[in-house]
Amino acid sequence: GPGLKVISTLSVGFDHLALDEIKKRGIRVGYTPDVLTDATAELSVALLLSACRRLPEAAEQVKSGGWTTWKPLWMCGYGLSDSTVGIIGLGRIGQAVARRLKPFGVRRFLYTGSGPKPESAAEFGAEFVPLTRLAEESDFVVVTCALTPATQGMCNKDFFGRMKKTSVFVNTSRGAVVNQEDLYDALAQGQIAAAGLDVTTPEPLPTDHPLLSLKNCVILPHIGSATYATRSTMAVLAAKNLLAGLRGEPMPHELKL
Ligand code: NDP
Repeated sequence: GPGLKVISTLSVGFDHLALDEIKKRGIRVGYTPDVLTDATAELSVALLLSACRRLPEAAEQVKSGGWTTWKPLWMCGYGLSDSTVGIIGLGRIGQAVARRLKPFGVRRFLYTGSGPKPESAAEFGAEFVPLTRLAEESDFVVVTCALTPATQGMCNKDFFGRMKKTSVFVNTSRGAVVNQEDLYDALAQGQIAAAGLDVTTPEPLPTDHPLLSLKNCVILPHIGSATYATRSTMAVLAAKNLLAGLRGEPMPHELKL
């Protein structure tokens, strides 16, 4: 409405806000960075392991009677030992993911972004590379960037076409970073091994969506920050942002527009 003075979003992402209009009207915006980093990174790792080790598919086999005599290659997947992990967007969550994956025996970290970030990358010995090289060399691609005009549709046919047939793709950023038709084709044709998505276009994803027919695609309903503790902390921070905004005081976390 015309009287709107303050927006407090219960998220670190702000791609859902009409920033041009907000800026023009001098509306202040509070958001919740940092407090959801650990929970979202943890979920990213859980999703990666679910996709690469085929957990939902395997659990389904137990229920359906598909689990019979031991067979050497049954339900095999891909592990992190000695792998190359590519992080798209080495921000707060991207770094927290890398920190958690390192002890699994990852051999090499690659990352992309708007430029090299030597201080952030040093902890992982991560190498800044163009997106094309990240796609070609990674065994696991984890997308943790913000959704912007530059990242929209960035993971497309060309990107998946460069990935290895044995590679696994994980997206916990925003659905629109991925061209879902191109991802479907890559998964269905065996161009990549598997995918794990916590975010989709649209949300909720229609239950008859083609991606849901694929065994090698694990889809979660945007639960990155969904721990009781994190949601509680986010709620308190969002309330503090809102109250500070309404009082004309500095917000604990205000988006710089
Ligand atoms: P940060 O701002 O710390 O990190 C965002 C990263 O995106 C930056 O490192 C930035 O890199 C990178 N980036 C920007 N443009 C590009 C580009 N063109 N190519 C590659 N990378 C780029 O944010 P957070 O880590 O806190 O959060 C990241 C995103 O995760 C949020 O924007 C949100 O959409 C999503 N999210 C999802 C959740 C879920 O429930 N699944 C929960 C929380 C967040 P650079 O610094 O080089 O510009």
